Amino acid sequence: MAKHARWAVVGAGIIGAAVAREILGRHDSADVTLFEKEDHPAAHQTGHNSGVVHAGLYYEPGSLKATLCRRGVDLIRDFANEHNVAFDECGKVVVATDETEAERLHAIHSRALANGVPDIAMLDRDGLRDIEPNAEGLAALHSPHTAIIDYRGLTDALVADFRAHGGRVRFSTPVKTIDRRGGPTGDTAVVRTPVDAQEFDHVIVCAGLQSDRLAARSGQNRTPTVVPFFGQYFILDEEYSSAVNGLIYPVPDPKYPFLGVHVTRRIDGGLMIGPNAFLSFSREGYRGLGLNIPDSLAVAADSGFWRFAVGNMATAARELPGVLSIEKFVAEAARYVPDLAGADGHRATRGIRAQAMNRDGTLVDDFVIDRAGAAMFVRNAPSPGATSALAIAEHLVAIIDGRR
Ligand SMILES: Cc1cc2nc3c(=O)[nH]c(=O)nc-3n(C[C@H](O)[C@H](O)[C@H](O)COP(=O)(O)OP(=O)(O)OC[C@H]3O[C@@H](n4cnc5c(N)ncnc54)[C@H](O)[C@@H]3O)c2cc1C
Repeated sequence: MAKHARWAVVGAGIIGAAVAREILGRHDSADVTLFEKEDHPAAHQTGHNSGVVHAGLYYEPGSLKATLCRRGVDLIRDFANEHNVAFDECGKVVVATDETEAERLHAIHSRALANGVPDIAMLDRDGLRDIEPNAEGLAALHSPHTAIIDYRGLTDALVADFRAHGGRVRFSTPVKTIDRRGGPTGDTAVVRTPVDAQEFDHVIVCAGLQSDRLAARSGQNRTPTVVPFFGQYFILDEEYSSAVNGLIYPVPDPKYPFLGVHVTRRIDGGLMIGPNAFLSFSREGYRGLGLNIPDSLAVAADSGFWRFAVGNMATAARELPGVLSIEKFVAEAARYVPDLAGADGHRATRGIRAQAMNRDGTLVDDFVIDRAGAAMFVRNAPSPGATSALAIAEHLVAIIDGRR
């Protein structure tokens, strides 16, 4: 590797910011540029999520999600402590309300054990009440080290640390393409923006909701495509803020890679319910209907989406009327926290998930990383992507360095 290797990272969400910082941590003489199309970090998924540091309960043992989530937890906790980022190990329970859910919960418990999640325990009804006096269920899985964090603050701190070590950040600079270039000393890649073109020895693309488009414009496979799923949140009135001690989750529906509407304490002290999961009319529209015609047409033109839709249309039609209704969310949460029945609150931000989909309409579960010459593309990094970000960064840079 050249002494002053030139590296580019595209996207200043939590993963791009972590990757940029990791490069300088490994190669202090490297020349590293972080490109971001918005004028600040964490503008999309990272700044609109549940704020949970997942412990690694659900993921297929041996998958990238399982291994990088577990490693990510330690890295993120240490970084947050060192950089004064708010972090609270408030714990979490996953609550089963009937026999079918209880059976699925036992399967999650086995996975969590296989993944090495520390100090987890199955609880009966009374055990659940000891941890969460207002929760009601047949059985629960307790994860005492699941935490909440300020992901925007954490990403700001990653970018600040990167800059302090000599990294360059170019905000308001959308990358149009990454063009592969072969040369006598090996591959390089040219990053084109509306104002210039620069050659790099390595480019790592962490473009979240735009990852398939940027890959396709750069000559890569269009699939997996990104199908945006929005998740609405509500914040309950202040009188409910202490209704729970930590995080309360339902047992997820194994058909979808989403965790279900949960009751989440926020790092600012508020109590949040959400997110649901519904097809989004836009990749980056956070208000109203958020209708974006090109984004909607792109979904409609995706044959994989129609295959997915065939199996899911009936449920979607059933869910549509309540998709933005606080009554519906509260009723969902009251299944396992009955005291919340009738609670009121206000609509908070919405998040939009970049969910990768295969050509056959199946949703991609694990993290996906593609490599093409000097460029590397993160093609799928859904939840627990924020928890895993620092470990994903370690992983990507180690692959390029030939250490993995
Ligand atoms: C509703 C919701 C809840 C979630 N909850 C959790 C949770 O509690 N815990 C957890 O661990 N994970 C959670 N996740 C997942 C987590 O937020 C993501 O895995 C993580 O934020 C992905 O980070 P990223 O940097 O890849 O993407 P992003 O944060 O979306 O960042 C991508 C960046 O790339 C930039 N970009 C795109 N195209 C270009 C271009 N052409 N040129 C320059 N810049 C570009 C974008 O502007 C953006 O800033 C949640 C996600 C959502 C949506």
